[in-house]
Amino acid sequence: MTTKKQTRTIKTIKIDVDKCNGCRACEVICSSFHAMPKYSSNNPARSRIRVIHEPLRDVYVPVYAGDYAVAECAGRDKYIIDGKEYDECAFCRAACPSREEFKEPDSGLPLKCDMCEGEDEPLCVKWCLVDALTIEEREEEVDEAEEEQEAVEVGLESLVNRFGIDKVADLVAHLARNKG
Ligand code: SF4
Ligand code: SF4
Repeated sequence: MTTKKQTRTIKTIKIDVDKCNGCRACEVICSSFHAMPKYSSNNPARSRIRVIHEPLRDVYVPVYAGDYAVAECAGRDKYIIDGKEYDECAFCRAACPSREEFKEPDSGLPLKCDMCEGEDEPLCVKWCLVDALTIEEREEEVDEAEEEQEAVEVGLESLVNRFGIDKVADLVAHLARNKG
């Protein structure tokens, strides 16, 4: 099967830990932007960026929500910063079954940074006044169909994990009937 490739400008957010002062403005604006309705509330538990703090050495590390992991991972990494050892999961970007980070507090559904879809610039970057977060752009070839399929699979899988396959299958059948 031939797959359709397209060149896209990929934006990534560069984190400069040395500049982060732990103000948490990024958490506030992200959770507020993703509230329903938009900007109606802010709750850092709903944020797609979390700032990890180590009080003894006053280190702040912003971590972005990445892909959903269906199972707890077998191999984990240990981080040592300035001689202090951090929890193995502390800087992980995944929402996974073994911890509460990066899960929507009401539904438990996984959260993932969507780069503030629809906005000109990611809001956490805009609100970070000390430039600990900055945008970097690069050109990359991407497979559009594969990307779409992956996004659908992740969404469905998390719904199945939460509500069970039968409920999700019934709902899909119901939606298909209504659209057909
Ligand atoms: S807004 Fe910037 S300085 Fe403040 S916590 Fe977030 S990354 Fe750190
Ligand atoms: S880019 Fe947008 S969605 Fe991603 S963490 Fe920043 S504010 Fe949240």
